[in-house]
Amino acid sequence: MQQIHSFASGHWIAPDAIARPIYSAVTSAQIAQAGNALNTPAMLDFARNTGGPALRALTFHDRARRLKALALHLKAHKKPLYALSHTTGATHADSQIDIDGGITTMLVFASKGRRELPDAQVYLDGNIEQLSRNGSFMGQHICTPLLGAAVHINAYNFPVWGMLEKLAPTLLAGVPAIIKPATSTVHVAEAAFRIMVESGIFPEGAMQFIAGSSGDLLGHLGAQDTVAFTGSADTALMLRAAPNLLKNAVRFTAEQDSLNASILGPDATEGTPEFDLFITEAHREITTKAGQKCTAIRRILAPEALVAPVIEALTAKLEKTVIGDPAAPETTMGALVSEARRADVLARIKEIAKEATRVFGDDTPPMEKGAFMAPQLFHCTAPDSARAVHEVEAFGPVSTIMPYRDLPHAAALANRGGGSLVASVITHDPAVASQLAMDIAAHHGRLYFNDRDSMAESTGHGAPLPHLVHGGPGRAGGGEEMGGIRGVMHYMQRTAVQGSPRLLSAIGQTWLPGAPVTEAKKHPFRHHFEDLTLGESLLTDARKISLEDIEHFARFTGDTFYAHMDEEAAKANPFFPGRVAHGYLLLSFAAGLFVEPDPGPVLANTGLERLSFQQPVSPGDSLRARLTVMRKTKRNDDYGEVRWHVELSNQRGETVATYELLTMVARLPAHA
Ligand code: NAP
Repeated sequence: MQQIHSFASGHWIAPDAIARPIYSAVTSAQIAQAGNALNTPAMLDFARNTGGPALRALTFHDRARRLKALALHLKAHKKPLYALSHTTGATHADSQIDIDGGITTMLVFASKGRRELPDAQVYLDGNIEQLSRNGSFMGQHICTPLLGAAVHINAYNFPVWGMLEKLAPTLLAGVPAIIKPATSTVHVAEAAFRIMVESGIFPEGAMQFIAGSSGDLLGHLGAQDTVAFTGSADTALMLRAAPNLLKNAVRFTAEQDSLNASILGPDATEGTPEFDLFITEAHREITTKAGQKCTAIRRILAPEALVAPVIEALTAKLEKTVIGDPAAPETTMGALVSEARRADVLARIKEIAKEATRVFGDDTPPMEKGAFMAPQLFHCTAPDSARAVHEVEAFGPVSTIMPYRDLPHAAALANRGGGSLVASVITHDPAVASQLAMDIAAHHGRLYFNDRDSMAESTGHGAPLPHLVHGGPGRAGGGEEMGGIRGVMHYMQRTAVQGSPRLLSAIGQTWLPGAPVTEAKKHPFRHHFEDLTLGESLLTDARKISLEDIEHFARFTGDTFYAHMDEEAAKANPFFPGRVAHGYLLLSFAAGLFVEPDPGPVLANTGLERLSFQQPVSPGDSLRARLTVMRKTKRNDDYGEVRWHVELSNQRGETVATYELLTMVARLPAHA
């Protein structure tokens, strides 16, 4: 029998007298045990004072690189996880969603971390706020990692994905995690955790693991700690109401029950690609993971006239379900996680059956042993007066089909879920999509539209993606995990900082306009990445702009807009005093003023952001550019990105345009 260990304060701890049994979903025999008394204050101390400082010493990019290494390490060592996953009732395809899906999620966070976060310890949120007339006092929002521990309490259904989708944004933020998976599948989570922690990729204290009960952990949490919970609404309610969490305003994110709906558009009649797509999606959501998916379609909404064809088509597909040994390749639906869970689902089905007729499936266990059950389809003819079909989550292969009269009725029924993780709409009609989006979006964390155009590449109603918000209002818990970098922000504090540009530049690790500059001793384009310093600046010579320049540019580019060509017409325009230079002429001349023509460390100009033309430039005006290093971001061993602030001014010293220029600059040969 497997002994599932906790990993606390850097040590593996075996199960003790309080251990609980873990059963195979396939044979119902005990296969493992987990649970031990833990010194939770010591674990929190280890996270806060060992893991936290070590993580915060790294930049977002350092942490993102380690996340990538961790995901690849897991990928290389994932094989044994599959056999364990089968013992939870998961088929090979279910296990792939859990194991490979979790690894991919981590890789996406690693990649987004390097692309969207700075190579620094501070994240700047939004633009500078000008708080004074002369710009000597300004405001900025920064996000820094919380100084506590992130407690992750996970549901049983995805022991690997559920762990990794929370761990990735937490580590990226620079916060240590204490992971408490659900006990019934903790043997899978522990095996994956062991691979990660033994890799040594993240510093000591970055992750700890509780097998079994979390004991008095929540009672010791403070304002810098967070709880991210996934599980049932009842448990969420009990935990989020814990006096200590309320007293200390501990951030509590909950992902809980959700009665997700899928709506068949009125246009998607039999014979359309959308009708078939709807059946495919609904069938997949009932059978994948034996319906134990928080995002599964619990309510199938179809136009009244299409209910019978939907039942017929879905039933025909469900009849082909192959239930059996999850490890066998021919099996299309495995078992529920335990007999106790099956009993729970059957009890909930009884409530649904009071309002709906079963049109597919029965209560007889399809296998002698284990927690297997047949898929179940119900038909509710009076969904307006029904309650259970909208409120009782049977966390298994169970779904109810119900009719709707028109789109407002479909929206009203979808919203009866009281808040859910995802709703899907299968339609090819943009008017249907847009009306339903307005009517139901506020009730759902994610809306999934699909039709003949996107079906070949679509990711599936039930697949939460790391790029997008996962969570939902109301019954779904009011939480929001993932969502790209939004998910990282749950583990950081947003703080408004006020001060002079010089001080804010130092705090934000980014030079800000108005802060002092250092005049470059040699052309900054001759410097390698390492030799450039924030605030290093070049003021170019001035160049006079003539009418001939403007006309030449107009002819050469074909941009003969009247403001450049026709004095009378230009004068009549409220923005111009007469003929003016093209904005793009200014940019081109600026490049001519600051460029360093010979081959050198600047490898490429990769973009230009935040361009703003602030004053017209007339023939006879002169132009000069100031180029200042704002921010540096290492990209690889060969080069890094340098963000330059560019200010173009006229002969009166007035700013005519500003923008941020991105270049790739070679690193010193020692780094190559
Ligand atoms: P659960 O019974 O509520 O358990 C969830 C987690 O809470 C488990 O880790 C459980 O640990 C832990 N827990 C229970 N009592 C606790 C306590 N007093 N202190 C600390 N932790 C405690 O839910 P589940 O059966 O694992 O999952 C099924 C439910 O999760 C379904 O309702 C489903 O809708 C929901 N779910 C939601 C999402 C989502 O993203 N929204 C995803 C998956 C599942 P033990 O196992 O040790 O009791």
